[in-house]
Amino acid sequence: MGKVLIIGAGGVGTVVVHKVAQNADVFTDIVLASRTKSKCDVIAADVKKRYGVDIKTEQVDADNVADLVALFKKHQPKLVINVALPYQDLTIMDACLEAGCNYLDTANYEPKDVAHFEYSWQWAYQDRFKQAGLTAILGCGFDPGQTGVYTAYAAKHHFDTIEYLDIVDCNAGDHHHAFATNFNPEINIREITQNGRYYENGQWVATGPLEIHKALNYPEIGPKESYLLYHEELESLVKNFPTIKRARFWMTFGQEYLTHLRVIQNIGMARIDEVEYNGVKIVPLQFLKAVLPNPQDLGENYSGWTSIGCRIRGKKDGKDKTYYIYNNCSHEAAYKETGMQGVSYTTGVPAMTGAYMFMTGKWSGAGVFNVEEFDPDPFMKKVAESGLPWHEIVDGDLEL
Ligand code: NDP
Repeated sequence: MGKVLIIGAGGVGTVVVHKVAQNADVFTDIVLASRTKSKCDVIAADVKKRYGVDIKTEQVDADNVADLVALFKKHQPKLVINVALPYQDLTIMDACLEAGCNYLDTANYEPKDVAHFEYSWQWAYQDRFKQAGLTAILGCGFDPGQTGVYTAYAAKHHFDTIEYLDIVDCNAGDHHHAFATNFNPEINIREITQNGRYYENGQWVATGPLEIHKALNYPEIGPKESYLLYHEELESLVKNFPTIKRARFWMTFGQEYLTHLRVIQNIGMARIDEVEYNGVKIVPLQFLKAVLPNPQDLGENYSGWTSIGCRIRGKKDGKDKTYYIYNNCSHEAAYKETGMQGVSYTTGVPAMTGAYMFMTGKWSGAGVFNVEEFDPDPFMKKVAESGLPWHEIVDGDLEL
């Protein structure tokens, strides 16, 4: 029980604030801080109207450690939930150490000037968090996040050894725009235009961007072309489940989306280096973000479902076994509850759930943790009650 401070008033931040306010018995004091305070005030007013819960709001520059430390010292939260951008992970972790706060995020650190993400930067905080007696929970959205908990749950209840893991992420929704991204466009486009990579027999195998793809069937949705991407949870899952022989990540994209993406790249709008325009230096991808639809505004006309899960093959009692665990989330239902679409919802609900696990003492320990290192059972119960129920198919055809 205690005070929580959320950083980031975007799509995911909005869902997190709704969800912690729905659990005000555990999150007894809620502060929302972001770069633009007026956005925090709009969310706070909506939450007050819906649940009668007061949210304090603050302006902060999360790139600035001193600013963050002053904010944390003023409010003394037990836990800081970072749902700003991956660029801010390290400054927020530094400030947590200095002010004595625990930490949770949904995406691993990425430097602004290189489109590259890996856990090494945040795992390097292990000793400092341990010595300070503080907890840092990394990657607690859906993917990473819920997918790591699904894998831990499978390992605990269904397998003696997990051998093959395929994480499958389908967005079968329609936002009725020619092109829009479902979360921060800059982060999203940087991720998708990178080379692909998967893990096999102890090594990482590189692929061209979106080079490997196949149609996969998603429950209640049907077949969708799915593309192999590198995704951050693969790095921690193969470390924490060393019996894994192969781990891959697949995401669906429509043809229209891919055509736009190709054009954006071909004309140089996905560039992350500075160019001079009318005497001003601009980063093309940041400019593109400013003209694309805001992911926070997509919810109103969004129809259809997301379907994200883990398809696992391994051994139980000496026999081969397959296991598929997934959640299907309705964009309309997410919007009705929080004013945000399903991608923000499926990220924000696990973030609140991880925070709930920490605040209630079900997940604890000093150091830096990925979610699969904790007991999955209380999380699975709470996340299902909080809007993301899960389903299992045992010994079905995994297609992979
Ligand atoms: P948005 O761009 O909608 O929101 C980001 C928020 O952070 C904005 O309110 C922005 O402020 C604020 N912000 C950015 N920079 C700073 C700064 N320097 N100081 C203070 N505040 C800042 O992104 P999303 O809500 O879509 O995504 C949030 C996070 O969730 C990202 O890290 C993303 O990678 C992650 N994510 C994780 C997923 C998962 O499943 N694990 C899936 C989807 C997203 P302003 O409003 O002024 O721009």
